[in-house]
Amino acid sequence: MTTATTTDWQQRHARDLMASYAPPLRLLVRGEGAWVWDEDGTQYLDFLGGIAVNSLGHAHPVVVEAAGRQASLMVHVSNYFATPSQLELAERLKRITGAGEAGRVYFGNSGAEANEAAFKLARRTGRPRILALKNAFHGRTMGALALTGKPALQEPFLPMVPGVEHLDSTVEALAEAMRDDVAALIVEPIKGETGVVPLPEGYLRAARELTERHGALLIVDEIQTGVGRTGRWFDFQHEGIVPDAVTIAKGIAGGVPLSAMVTFGAASDLLQRGDHGSTFGGNPFATAVANAVLEEIERADLMGNADRRGRQIRAAVEGLGSPVVTEVRGRGLLIGIGTVQDAAPAVAAAALEAGLIVNAINPTSIRIAPPLIIGDEEVAAFTDRFRTALAAV
Ligand SMILES: *Cc1c(COP(=O)(O)O)cnc(C)c1O
Repeated sequence: MTTATTTDWQQRHARDLMASYAPPLRLLVRGEGAWVWDEDGTQYLDFLGGIAVNSLGHAHPVVVEAAGRQASLMVHVSNYFATPSQLELAERLKRITGAGEAGRVYFGNSGAEANEAAFKLARRTGRPRILALKNAFHGRTMGALALTGKPALQEPFLPMVPGVEHLDSTVEALAEAMRDDVAALIVEPIKGETGVVPLPEGYLRAARELTERHGALLIVDEIQTGVGRTGRWFDFQHEGIVPDAVTIAKGIAGGVPLSAMVTFGAASDLLQRGDHGSTFGGNPFATAVANAVLEEIERADLMGNADRRGRQIRAAVEGLGSPVVTEVRGRGLLIGIGTVQDAAPAVAAAALEAGLIVNAINPTSIRIAPPLIIGDEEVAAFTDRFRTALAAV
């Protein structure tokens, strides 16, 4: 199972791919459900799900069918034309976000692009200040990076796009910063890239109240938390608030690149003709697959499954009683497992050796974001393999 010597594919990756990623862990060749296989035929339980992307797992018949059907009709036409699948998805997103009649949808291809659109939406208020949170992640393009509250990611690329201030994730810090010159506040309801760290209890409701009072937009980045992963379509729906915009990507089309910004109410009129665009954004292929994925999430009650399986997994991890585990965080199937100092990378490496894919997002956090389709078999296999991994460190 171990790759003791540097193999041909590792050398090729190191030689031919931009050095911006760490060396890849395995060469994967196929998947089915929550399982993937490497080139040696070794099987792994995929509890990272392509970083919360593969909502229906690998090779799901619904994705295969929708992709094949749409590819045989047309893959792309440009935004000079409308397509049935794009119109259907826009309507569906307005419904599931709760934006309803007054909502509008902008399509991009990645999370960063959805947040770039949100950045431009905020600029269109004419107000100078944008508030974001320290340690939140909003993407790697220059606008999204300016929103991202991680100095280490920004420093090599200074100067940043101006106008963004990063606050502590407390209601007091927000109340202090909030005035009538604020265009928008952007938040992740659960900070995924920071180790699955939820906002403090009541923060989103207070943020809604403060932004509304000062006429600022509340933008919720649901790129990682959205599309059923936390047990509802969107995490903000647990709080009963209505934002001005929500950004969506990762899980929306089961692995096909697609993102969206959905606006609510008056925010829907901020972007006007010529203000923004994307060649690939919302093409018929990606939107057809997204429609099929969202329909399946609803039909098979995968939000209910995410909630149930999430509880099961959190209880199972706590039940292992390992001294390596310090806490279990998150909602539904976005779970952060806190570890004692510096143990997370060793746990993830031991898990991989035991045939389990999890992610050490930082030295003290393991992230799991499995497909929403997992059942008893996968939960049992995870528990077994994770126990083995914890015992190995
Ligand atoms: C992944 C992520 C992004 C960036 O998405 P990309 O598709 O990598 O550009 C932005 N915000 C959040 C919360 C994310 O998890």
